[in-house]
Formats: sequence, structure tokens, C-alpha cells
Amino acid sequence: MRVPRRTALLACTAALLGATCATVTPAAAADVAHTVLTAKDGWGSATTGTTGGSKADAAHTVTVTTRAQLVAALGGSNSSNGSNATAKIIQISGTIDLNVNDSNSHLACSAYQTGGYTLAKYLAAYDPAVWGRTKVPSGTVEDARVASQKAQASRVQINVGANTTIVGINGGRLLGGGLVVKNVDNVIIRNVTFEDAADCFPQWDPTDGSTGNWNSMYDSLVAYNATHVWVDHNTFTDGANVDANQPKYFGRPYQVHDGQLDVVKGADYVTASWNIFKDHDKTILVGNSDSSTVDTGKLRVTFHHNLWQNTVERAPRVRFGQVDVYNNYFVPTAGNYGYSLGVGKSSAIVAQYNYFKLPSGVAASSVLSKLSGTALTANNNSVNGTTTDLIAAYNTAHSSSTLGTSAGWTPSLRLTVHSASAVPAAVTAAAGVGKI
Ligand code: CA
Ligand code: CA
Repeated sequence: MRVPRRTALLACTAALLGATCATVTPAAAADVAHTVLTAKDGWGSATTGTTGGSKADAAHTVTVTTRAQLVAALGGSNSSNGSNATAKIIQISGTIDLNVNDSNSHLACSAYQTGGYTLAKYLAAYDPAVWGRTKVPSGTVEDARVASQKAQASRVQINVGANTTIVGINGGRLLGGGLVVKNVDNVIIRNVTFEDAADCFPQWDPTDGSTGNWNSMYDSLVAYNATHVWVDHNTFTDGANVDANQPKYFGRPYQVHDGQLDVVKGADYVTASWNIFKDHDKTILVGNSDSSTVDTGKLRVTFHHNLWQNTVERAPRVRFGQVDVYNNYFVPTAGNYGYSLGVGKSSAIVAQYNYFKLPSGVAASSVLSKLSGTALTANNNSVNGTTTDLIAAYNTAHSSSTLGTSAGWTPSLRLTVHSASAVPAAVTAAAGVGKI
């Protein structure tokens, strides 16, 4: 079906000054763009459910191929698009580089540097031999880093308003940044590759752990005090820019990546289904602070039929929330594996019918990590084809600080549940981009 010229003109009128008009097209074949989250499909289906931009009119159903078109389609201004609740369907076609100016020319890290920031100056100022290890960096060089980082954030962190569906088509890929779903309700994101949301300006924190750490700001996708978010059939990866290739400064890896999918600050009712999370360290936080005062009773998330491949930790790490983890496939790598399920403060994880393909030398006791939490429900999980009691395995290896065996709730929002043994084939066949 062809879209009348008049519709295209309306979309251009709505676009912000300086932004290229987006091409208006009908919805994708098979109407993927209008699909809503099925009833009972995880926490995202609770209460009012998740319908995204399915009610969008023709003028707000667009295909975008550049950052400027994406920002225009989301409402016109990245700084205010988070408050644009107009129903909209946005199809991301091909690769969109987010590190670009408004003319779609690529911006290197140096383009964001301001206030005299250079990495060399930063390393000189906060070398532990000079600055010590007891306080976080402050002063003019740190201020310049923060200002430079904010300049990059305004380009690569794309704000998404309520009632939005974003679907990748033709290899739809967001490169070098990600989506921020903050303070909004009802967002669907499907079939998008999120690649290498690298921060040009990591911060040194000598007080993080016993050795200090470099920390970065950008998640590929974050639900921040957002409700009813469906994240489906996406692929999250660091691409060619893997952590192992980063240099070390002050003896610690220069970590340019943060989370792949973080659910934080009172976010609630999220379903993450059929995604691939791969080649990444700090994969998923559900809750980002033990001292949070807004997360109790929230952070309810369902993870089903996802593949975690070659991820180090946080798959997911949970605080506070009732989090259902069923029918997922975990394929960690020997040598860099930390853990999969992080049992954080006041967390209530139910982990059932998952399959863990653990490499030689990685024990079943490594799957769980007790991180200020006390208990979870875990049963009917398979490790390399054998039904395995993950909690018993953990407790045998950690007899001085064991985990209890009840999360205190029973999931009711599930569709088809596979046996654990069927999970590898089902997830391998259908998870990630290019499968819907
Ligand atoms: Ca850290
Ligand atoms: Ca984060």
C-alpha cells in the first residue's frame, strides 16, 4: 500500500527544525509494528498491559534511517521527547549511528571534549600516586570530563516517550548509544540490534571495590521509573568493541560499557522475551542501589526465552523486585564468567525451567551469587542436561552464607512454558533479531 503524499507532508511539518523529514510508510509486513504484548505474557502484561504505539495514526507511523529522523519521529527534540505521549510507530531501517551531528556526520570522541578535557590530563590528575585512593575525582579536570560526557549523552542517549513502538526492519541497528525509557508508560521495542553503547568518558572511582574501577554511563536500553515495557527479539552486543580489547589504566580495565538492559528507579511491569544478550560484562541490573527508597513493591520483570551468551555477570542482578526467570538459555564462557543470577537486596527471583550450558571447569555453584539477598525459588533448571538444584549447589559451596529456597511468590503471568531440556533448541531457533 502506498502512503498518500499528504501524509508524508504532515510528518515533515511535525519534524523539528534542522531534522530531516522521515519517510512515512505503512506498517511492516505481517503487521509486526502493530503487535501488542499478549495477555498473561509476563509482568509487562499486568494491569493495563503493554500496547506501545499500536494506535498510531498514519502520520505517526514512520521509517527512519538516521539519528535525526529518529529524533524527529520521537517528537522533534531529544531533550523533550520523553514527554511526547502521542502514539507512534517507528521502524528503524538499517544501521543508525548515534554518534553523529545533525548532518549525520560521524562524531569521534574528541568532538565531545570540552572544558580542556583530555584522557592524558585525566590520568595525570587522578593517578592514585597523585590523588590517592580514598576519594572520588573532583575539581576542574573531573568537571571537564562530566561536561564532555554530557555532550556525548545528548547525542547518543535517545529519549523515548509514552505510547511508542520501535521495531527494527532491514537489519535495524542502533550503534554507539541506546534508548532511554524514563518516567513513561507503555513502550514496545522489538527486533533491534543494540551495539556498543560506548562511553567516551569513563569515570575513575578509586573507592569502587578494593582496587578501584572505571565506570561508564550508558545502558543500551534503560527503563527508568517506566511502566509497561516490552523488550522482545532484540540483540544486545558490544560488537567488535569488546571489553577485552580495552586498555588498563591504574591497573584496572578502562570499562567503556555499562548495562545492556537496566530496569531501575521504580520501573515496573517489564517483559523481556526472546532477546539475545551477548559478549558483555555487566549485562542487566534490576534495581541499581541497595539504598533505594522507590523500588520496594516495584521492579517486577519477567525474563523468558532469552539467550545470555558470553556474558560475565548480572543476567540479571536483582534488587527488590519479583522477577520471573523462566525458559532462558545461559551459555557462559570459561575464563570470564562471574555468575548469572545475582540475588540482591530484598530480591524475589523465581528461576525455573532454564538451561545452563556450563563450560568445563565452571561449576553449577557459580550460577547464583548472593549479593545482600536472602532467598530465591529455583527448581526444574538444567545444567548441561541434568536437572540441578542450583540453590543446593550454591549452599554446598558457600556453607557459611547460604540462600533460602523460597522467593515468597508464585508467578501467574506465563504463556507457554517449555521443559528445561527443550529450551536450547527453542531459544536458539527463535531468539534475537531477524526472527519475527
Ligand atoms: Ca562498578
Ligand atoms: Ca546502568
